[in-house]
Amino acid sequence: MNKSPRLRTFYSDRMSLTFENDNSSRSPEKPKKLLEFLKRHGLFEHLDIVSDFAPFSHEDFYIAHKKDYVDYFFSDELPQSYRRLLGLTWSKAFAETTRYTNASLYNAIAHSIAHPEEVAFSPSGGYHHATPRKGALYCSFSGQVIASAKIYREQGLSGCYIDLDGHHGNSIDNSYGFVPDLEKALPPEIGNINIASTHGVYLAELREKLDLLEKYITDGKVHYIVFCHGADSHEWDDLGRQLSTEEWIECSELVYGFVHRMQVKLRKQIPLTLCLFGGYRKDDYNTVLSLHTADLVKCLNILCGKEIEYEAVVKEKVVVK
Ligand SMILES: [Zn+2]
Repeated sequence: MNKSPRLRTFYSDRMSLTFENDNSSRSPEKPKKLLEFLKRHGLFEHLDIVSDFAPFSHEDFYIAHKKDYVDYFFSDELPQSYRRLLGLTWSKAFAETTRYTNASLYNAIAHSIAHPEEVAFSPSGGYHHATPRKGALYCSFSGQVIASAKIYREQGLSGCYIDLDGHHGNSIDNSYGFVPDLEKALPPEIGNINIASTHGVYLAELREKLDLLEKYITDGKVHYIVFCHGADSHEWDDLGRQLSTEEWIECSELVYGFVHRMQVKLRKQIPLTLCLFGGYRKDDYNTVLSLHTADLVKCLNILCGKEIEYEAVVKEKVVVK
């Protein structure tokens, strides 16, 4: 049971900061950089781009955040107390991009539910460290919390994030007390899969989590999956330590293989959305983009019936002793 041959990609140029980015993180430019990378490698034809989705309003952000923080974030000046933990240089232009990145994730998930035969893709990140009170560690807003709360309120459906970024995604856990129906939108035991270990143990834990997820899906308690394969779980990332290139790719194979198996078992399409999350290589940003590309190609080959040949090109990290 294949999915459609192209990834339904919720992308607008307004998601990316393309100028005045003096950040240590390239993340505000990442959506655009990744799409350019896919074009350069002849892979753009595998995406169907949707650009006409509406940006998020203040009300959308209020779902997961205190009003003060949201109002300040979109004002003329974000106070220092909110900037300190963010790690990114705040600007009005940057703030505007978050309306589109967060809306991209929500629209991608909603599309995957309405059209489960298509894989939806939000080429975005910067969500999983934000808390109700403020943004933190390159993450301005809890995009996952907002998207899933909206989906639950609109459709009564629950989801699971397989968050294989190199860092523990705390935004969901930190929001259970703030968003009243979040436990239904994202069941605490399975809604936020994060893995802290390394190498072989990491892969074993991922398999265990997927076994648990199988129960939730079979029992009708989880209705959609969002896979966020952050490139900073790669051992040579500036902020990473966990997985070799082969192991990082094996995670993609495990997740897409799992979705395929579940679809065969249940004889129906399982809604799947892909999202980017972290990845930081100051010496070679193409390594980050290439890992993400290899992940997308695995999805296309395993779930969408394609036979694309692509190998991740990962520059070896020079360790200065
Ligand atoms: Zn990270």
